Amino acid sequence: MPANRDGKYSHTAELKRQDAAHHLHPFTDFQDYAAHPGRIISRAEGVYIEDSDGNRILDGMSGLWCCNLGYSQPGIVEAVRKQLSELPFYNNFFQCANEPSVRLAARLASLTPDNFNHVFFTNSGSEANDTNLRLVRRYWDLLDKPNKRIILSRTNAYHGSTIAAASLGGFDFVHRQFETLPYVHHIAQPYWFKDGGELSPEEFGVRVAKDLERAIDELGEDNIAAFIAEPIQGAGGVIVPPESYWPEMRRILAERDILFISDEVICGFGRTGQLFGCQSYGTSPDLITFAKAVTNGFQPLGGVLLGDRVANVLTSGGGEFGHGFTYSGHPAACAAALATLDILEREQLVERVADDIGPYLQRRWQELADHPIVGETRGKGMVAALELVRNKHTRERLEDGGKAGAVCRQFCIESGLVMRAVGDAMIIAPPLVCSHEEIDLLIERATRALDLTASHYHL
Ligand SMILES: *Cc1c(COP(=O)(O)O)cnc(C)c1O
Repeated sequence: MPANRDGKYSHTAELKRQDAAHHLHPFTDFQDYAAHPGRIISRAEGVYIEDSDGNRILDGMSGLWCCNLGYSQPGIVEAVRKQLSELPFYNNFFQCANEPSVRLAARLASLTPDNFNHVFFTNSGSEANDTNLRLVRRYWDLLDKPNKRIILSRTNAYHGSTIAAASLGGFDFVHRQFETLPYVHHIAQPYWFKDGGELSPEEFGVRVAKDLERAIDELGEDNIAAFIAEPIQGAGGVIVPPESYWPEMRRILAERDILFISDEVICGFGRTGQLFGCQSYGTSPDLITFAKAVTNGFQPLGGVLLGDRVANVLTSGGGEFGHGFTYSGHPAACAAALATLDILEREQLVERVADDIGPYLQRRWQELADHPIVGETRGKGMVAALELVRNKHTRERLEDGGKAGAVCRQFCIESGLVMRAVGDAMIIAPPLVCSHEEIDLLIERATRALDLTASHYHL
């Protein structure tokens, strides 16, 4: 057995055996995993993770879009430790509150756009989107508009994995595995590289936005409760919409009496160069979903920020709102979030994404567009994607079935870089704290992986 950094014998083989025998992993083919066990990630430092075989890997995905400040943040650790020793848990039911949850609610209200003054805490993004459906339903009921029930979402969206959140999501292979909510309808996504054909990105952006208008007309404005969307679709492949898309969506939403939910679980807390993606794109949501980076991934926490339009109706009567989680506003999770926001502000990281490291990443990432197997690069702030192709002009893929992405991902790992594959799109969302040198290293390793992928396909 290999010795790990402390010179102790690692128990990698034993862990892998137990993992394969007992542990069912999220979004995983169980049979395949048992035959090809994964790597045990054993420690992390700065923007690097380390596996139990001693490989040190640059994490181009911030964990799972959450460790925006990297892995070495003793301030967050200490805040959680202190909270656990003072008040490890108490609930927020039955006329009770705890200091971190109250302070975090007030802090979020002060950070967010002026009309956002209330928050409902959950433990995850999925639960937050479930909460959104409950809030939206309650809102229209209190306004005596019981017909407004339909929720519009988009193809290839990701909103989480509870029954409600997975219904909102737009992955067909997921929908085939359970009974989706019958009142969720999906409209088109602004994926120019895949669907744009001969249209310019700007023409395509406007055209695809009009699918919202068409759906509202067909289904009836009086029947529609809300529209939910990510500013940039993340798990669907970092679909950065053409610049014309959100202005046209904004026009349509302003003309129609439906609520707009901005799912900011990825874009929130600085990823796009503003605190929230809706601010980057100038949209005006009524509800904002957040999770992931709010605690830098160090504690599970999510929630919904409520704009005054919804909050004013919900807080002015109507009786008890029958919804909540045991851990809604967990003191240790809220303490982690407060410490995360302290660092985000003290180190001016949102500004850094807008003015320094974001533009630097985008400039360097764009250079990859010259690589023979890259059909497109796209990105914003600290999130980016590229499309793997055999032919740049016809957009012909390297292989059918979106398998080239998995091939490239393996070469990334072997080159010391975590880059995720979504079909044939390779995506990154590196920590906002990356140095210029770490971005250079990311580009160097990504280039090596692209070269190896090209050789693999004899190009
Ligand atoms: C990850 C994600 C979710 C779900 O969050 P969980 O904490 O995994 O439940 C929801 N929306 C978006 C946009 C996400 O990326």
